[in-house]
Order: sequence, then C-alpha cells, then structure tokens
Amino acid sequence: EHSMLLPYDRAAFLRALPRLGPLEHKGSRGKLLIVAGSERMAGAALMAAGSALRSGCGYVTLAAPEPVLAAARVRLPEAVALPLPCDAQGFLDERAVPLLREAAGRNSAVLFGPGLGRTPGVRAALEAVLALQKPLMLDADGLNALGGAPLRRTAPTVLTPHIVEFSRLTGLTVGEIEADPVSAAVRYAADNSAVLVLKGPGTIVAAPDGSVSVNDSGNPGLATAGSGDVLSGVTGAFLAAGLDAAEAARAAVFCHGAAGDLAAARLSQYGMTATDIIESLPELLRPFD
Ligand code: AMP
Ligand code: MG
Repeated sequence: EHSMLLPYDRAAFLRALPRLGPLEHKGSRGKLLIVAGSERMAGAALMAAGSALRSGCGYVTLAAPEPVLAAARVRLPEAVALPLPCDAQGFLDERAVPLLREAAGRNSAVLFGPGLGRTPGVRAALEAVLALQKPLMLDADGLNALGGAPLRRTAPTVLTPHIVEFSRLTGLTVGEIEADPVSAAVRYAADNSAVLVLKGPGTIVAAPDGSVSVNDSGNPGLATAGSGDVLSGVTGAFLAAGLDAAEAARAAVFCHGAAGDLAAARLSQYGMTATDIIESLPELLRPFD
C-alpha cells in the first residue's frame, strides 16, 4: 500500500468551506436531493434533511414515501417535499425511478439511503442514482442495496459505512477489518474510485488517491440512533456546496464529531441525542460567516 496519512484538525476544517459572499442566493449555496426514509424509519430522513439544512445547504428536497413527508412538513418546513410512489409495505418502488432522475437534474448533489429499507424497489432506485453524473452520498440502506457490487462511477462518490456495513461492501469479516482498518478502507477507495468513510471511534476517511486521515473529534455520546444519518446530511450539504468528495467527507466527519462534543458539553454524553448534534452544528459553522 502507498497510503499517506494526512493530519486533519480544526485549522484544516477552517480552510474547508467557502465564505458566504454578498451576492449569494439559495441556489448558489448548493441544492441537495435527499432520498431517505420509510414509514417505520421516518426519523432517519428527518435527521439527514435537518442536518443538511443546518450545514449551509441553500435548498433541500426530501424525496420519500408520503408518511415520511407528513412528518417532514411539520418538523422541517424548510425542506421541499417530493412524494415517491411506494409498495404495499410502504417502501419506495421502482415507479419512483423516473421521478428521481428528473429531480436529480435540478440538484447539485444526491444523498441516498438512510431509512429506506431493504427491498427490490430500493435496489432499482439505487441503480438509477448510481448512473447519474452527480456527486453522490451513499449511506445506510443505500450501502446495503449496493452490497459487494463494484462501483463504476466517474462522478464524486462518498460512502459512510459503519464496520458491519463495510463488511457487507467488502466481504471481509468484522475481525479482518479490525485487524487493519486503514488498509481495508484505502483499498476499497482505490478499487472503487470513491471516498470511503469507515465510521466509529477514530473515523477513517480514505480517498481514491491513497490519502487517508483519522478523525479525532467526537466522543462516545455519538453512539446513538440517528447519529450516522446526521453525518450523511452534513456530507451531502458539503458535496452540494461544491467541495470535492474527499474534502467534503473530511470536513463533515470533523464537524459532526465537534458538534457532538458541543452537545456533550451542554447535555452530557449520556444524555445527548442525534437531534442535539444537529442543533450544535451552527456554532461550528460560525467562523465561515
Ligand atoms: P451510525 O452507526 O450510522 O449511526 O453512525 C454512528 C456515528 O457515530 C458515526 O459517525 C460514528 O463515527 C460515531 N460514533 C459511534 N460510536 C462512537 C464512539 N465510540 N466514539 C466516537 N464516535 C462514535
Ligand atoms: Mg447508520
């Protein structure tokens, strides 16, 4: 392996995001299409969309089955709703594919996966999304739908598996990954021309060029339901803003961890929730005003 371990700290984060100019408008700040949620996992979509809106994204469209959008209209009035056809069990089905293609054309990046469930309709939607020439953030059930299939995209792609999801992507056992997680992440990124974020304490961000960094912000309070969905929303927002995939991923991982540290200082590691991470994001972003 010829990997380079890059340092990534607060100073690097402070160089990562563009400052807002006086002529900014909501389109120039990036438009993100989020495909997420199902009746049982509406919260995953709300976490992803809520964190994208709190990460400087100018325009967030949430594409989801109707019950998810019903919750979003109340909890996230800033998000634009795109209802997707779903099957009898309430998961999106393949009739959603043309709608997603059309919506993607109006957006600068796509986030696909949180809370979608594991169904043939989700796999059909993933196929369509992979074929788009748009920056793509894949998480959770987007990763499960991909499984061990190789990625063949030329557009920027970020994947954010935890170790079990990474095991499904690579066919390696959890034990094999734990033996040398950096090498496994670097290899996957190089073989698939994608940025691979292996989440956990000391999240690893590996880029296709062999560069790799290990994050040191965050705390065990981040081990809570919805926390990963928040990270995917931040990453999606930074991709939509035009950061390159590796920069977006490194900045988002740092920012998510640091927001978790602010939430823990306020509420304790024990008592914080994923929503509290979202609420801490603005303070992290103040230096970019
Ligand atoms: P997920 O498993 O998809 O909900 O994602 C969990 C998020 O919390 C990821 O960003 C992890 O890196 C982070 N996380 C989980 N456990 C820890 C921990 N013990 N220390 C720091 N970060 C953690
Ligand atoms: Mg997750």
